[in-house]
Amino acid sequence: MAGTTHHGGSARDPGTRARGANVPWHSLTAEEAMEGRDSGPDGLSPTEAAARLARHGPNRLPSSLGRGPLVRFLAQFHNVLIYFLLCAAVLTWLLDHRVDAAVILAVVVVNAIVGFVQEGRAERALDAIQDVVAPRATVVRGGRRTTVAADALVPGDVVVLEAGDRVPADLRLIDSRSLLIEEAVLTGESVPAEKQPASVPADTLLAERASMAHSGTLVVAGRASGVVVATGADTRIGGISGLVGGVRALVTPLLRQINGFGRAVTLAAAVGGTLLFAFAVLVRDFALVEALVAVVALAVSIIPEGLPAVITITLAIGVRRMAARRALIRRLPAVETLGATSVICSDKTGTLTRNEMTVRRLYLWGRTLTSDGSGHTPVGRFTVHGDPDTPSAPLAAIVETMVLCNDADVHPSPEGWRVVGDPMEAALITAARKAGADPDRIRAAHARPAEIPFDARHRYMAVLSHTPGGGRRIHVKGAPERLLSMCSRQVGDDGTEEPLDTARWEEIIATAAQAGERVIALAHRDVPDDTRVLGAEDVVDGLVLAGLVGLIDPIRDEASAAIARCRTAGITVVMITGDHTGTAAAVARELGIAEAPVVVTGHELDALDDDALADTVEGVNVFARTDPEHKLRIVRALQGRGRIVAMTGDGVNDAPALKQADVGVAMGRRGTEAAKEASDMVLLDDDFASIVAAVNQGRVVHDNIRKVIAWTLPTNGGEVLIVIAAIAVGATLPVSPVQILWLNLVLGVTLGLALAFEPAEDGVMDRPPREPNAALLSRFLLWRVVLVSVLLLVVGVAVFSHALARGHDVATARTLVVNVIVVLKIFYLFDIRYLHASSMRLRAVRGTPAVLLALAVLVPAQFALTYTPFLNEVFGTAPVPFADGVLVVALGALVLPLLEVEKLLVRRFGIFPELRS
Ligand code: ADP
Ligand code: MG
Repeated sequence: MAGTTHHGGSARDPGTRARGANVPWHSLTAEEAMEGRDSGPDGLSPTEAAARLARHGPNRLPSSLGRGPLVRFLAQFHNVLIYFLLCAAVLTWLLDHRVDAAVILAVVVVNAIVGFVQEGRAERALDAIQDVVAPRATVVRGGRRTTVAADALVPGDVVVLEAGDRVPADLRLIDSRSLLIEEAVLTGESVPAEKQPASVPADTLLAERASMAHSGTLVVAGRASGVVVATGADTRIGGISGLVGGVRALVTPLLRQINGFGRAVTLAAAVGGTLLFAFAVLVRDFALVEALVAVVALAVSIIPEGLPAVITITLAIGVRRMAARRALIRRLPAVETLGATSVICSDKTGTLTRNEMTVRRLYLWGRTLTSDGSGHTPVGRFTVHGDPDTPSAPLAAIVETMVLCNDADVHPSPEGWRVVGDPMEAALITAARKAGADPDRIRAAHARPAEIPFDARHRYMAVLSHTPGGGRRIHVKGAPERLLSMCSRQVGDDGTEEPLDTARWEEIIATAAQAGERVIALAHRDVPDDTRVLGAEDVVDGLVLAGLVGLIDPIRDEASAAIARCRTAGITVVMITGDHTGTAAAVARELGIAEAPVVVTGHELDALDDDALADTVEGVNVFARTDPEHKLRIVRALQGRGRIVAMTGDGVNDAPALKQADVGVAMGRRGTEAAKEASDMVLLDDDFASIVAAVNQGRVVHDNIRKVIAWTLPTNGGEVLIVIAAIAVGATLPVSPVQILWLNLVLGVTLGLALAFEPAEDGVMDRPPREPNAALLSRFLLWRVVLVSVLLLVVGVAVFSHALARGHDVATARTLVVNVIVVLKIFYLFDIRYLHASSMRLRAVRGTPAVLLALAVLVPAQFALTYTPFLNEVFGTAPVPFADGVLVVALGALVLPLLEVEKLLVRRFGIFPELRS
């Protein structure tokens, strides 16, 4: 596939294109369509496919251009805070403070650049993730089934469709089984259409072309194969939309909250500024110009202009860290929500267990065979109480159903036996080999003209088969209770049919399930030789039970460790499975979900109305024998109890529940396109432990955002207080407007940004999930913002008046104030890094690479501001004597022990409940 992109720009073959566009494929027969595309039932050879890819270009719609860099850059200015700063710049310009105006503009531009660069990185991170989860398609090439990236499809490829697939190109159907396709994207019709390969008249409307599967539509049920007649822009959807994709919003609820906060602050600045201006001119007799400068100072000081950018970055870092743990975020808000997750509803098979199925037992009437060996390697054999089993008619009957009622395959490859299709079905093939049969021979000897594909709702699969000239038989396999109700007879121990002993079979099923085995029943029925089609009505009753198989599926070790972590983190784990109650309970016990799991079946769930469900849902550990539709009700019930729910899913029917969940989690390997599209997060390894790792990161992100805010706001608070105090007493401003801007900018892009990179604090997973509707800043952090603001005021004013008293000029005194603010914020940073522990420890003081890098930029910047003539000129600063410098550092450093004492005191007296542990 490596060459795909290189061919992207190559010229298309105009002949082929025109020919394809005008052919009414739907009115041709499947054979004519294959001929028209120079293909056949075995598909194209890999070399031919590569040649056609070069000719036709990749199967991709021309992507929307998105926002160009210029638009994205300009969008950085679309922010009330920035508008406000721009007004301030104009005002200062008019007041003839040209340098100040230039500095304000410079700050605005630098800020926009930082935002632009970081937003670009966030977008690229998300794009990279989209590529990883890019759709794949199953094709037949050179007679073999393989999967390829959907954009490598070419006209003539034979594509296999299954429930949950997005149709990857325009296909003329060759073969279909119970195929239902939802074509809303194309026709607006949301009721799925039945499809089948018979040709339809040439003038049939698009929505009624039953012989076609169109690119972009969704396979809701069934299976099919079809030949690709058009790819990329030549498809129907390509013709209609031209551009799809669209701009991805990088706005999350949190960012919206921050922007709202920004607007409130701006409003406050406008009103406060006006009042202050009136006060300064009327009461304090400031000159007009001087008063305006003061008001501008107030305005710029109050605005945390860098905050939204830093928060976006914090989220983006979270996305990156989660991706490293194989959890890919598809929608940014999920990063925030993950941290608040209080319930994880998980599938069993493949997520909590390894989905490495092995048939352990074959239950025939009166005889149980046990096999050794594990995985899909056909080494091992079936024995009865340790004695080799002799071939028998009952064994032959069950093996035939195992092999024929099966779409999977296991074939040897250099890396061992490779599974194509469902691992459970593959295990049946391996078991057949261990039982001494040759699955390939059995399959070669039988035609399979019709099939009812497996569906999690009816929980069985059936095929119609016959040997050339031989009788016809329906083979069925599925959930045992389900099949027992469809059977009336059984294969006896001598191979003859006899009446079904339901009670005895139920005992066997219960015992096997207790032992954690996944039980599948196998049955058959002979039908008249003219039977051609197969419907649900053909299998409702009269089947002959051939026996049961008991499969084991080892649990994932990481999953049980992750479940233990959920317990300390106050997160409830709920298993939702289509499997048998007994099997599910045994697995739940083994995983440590509960000692004695409370199990509710889908059937019991149906009997509960929504209120009753809401009352019971919280105590349930396992939902067994559920349909995918039940998931939606379970999510809603939990959400009704105020829980934040993460829900996993893989099938097309899981999509509504994934959308409803606060965090919809799709399986990257096993999941269908439909599930992935509906999800907020995709697990590359399908592993439950990855969800828990993502929750952990979500909590870290949330902590870091709170730290960023609690650290940033006091700068603004302190500056505002200083300006107001100065105007109130009619004194010179201890910091000028441009110096305030310098502070906001320099602190924001260094230390503020460093906080976004903070690693997890100890014990992130030892506390309960945060309250979903708790304020972002807890009472303690709010108090902190006020306390540090006041500290900045006190220290700032003290340094300023002390400096003036010692005979320094205003420029020098202001320089000292700017520096003391920076030093204090540095030490405050070391405090805020540990919300949950003391900061006076070696580890805490050492800092992270990000913090050290930030200091390596910030400290020289302060020296430059203080000692270089150019910056002295621009910012109205002046070199300070060494002794004063030392004083400034000492004063600022005092904040750390002070805040430590405060932490001790508030904890001691239990003032803030959140700090009690
Ligand atoms: P799970 O939650 O374990 O993934 P599923 O919904 O996939 O459960 O399956 C539910 C039940 O349907 C299984 O316990 C099994 O009895 C039956 N089943 C699963 N896959 C197949 C299949 N391919 N063919 C027949 N029956 C199946
Ligand atoms: Mg399943």
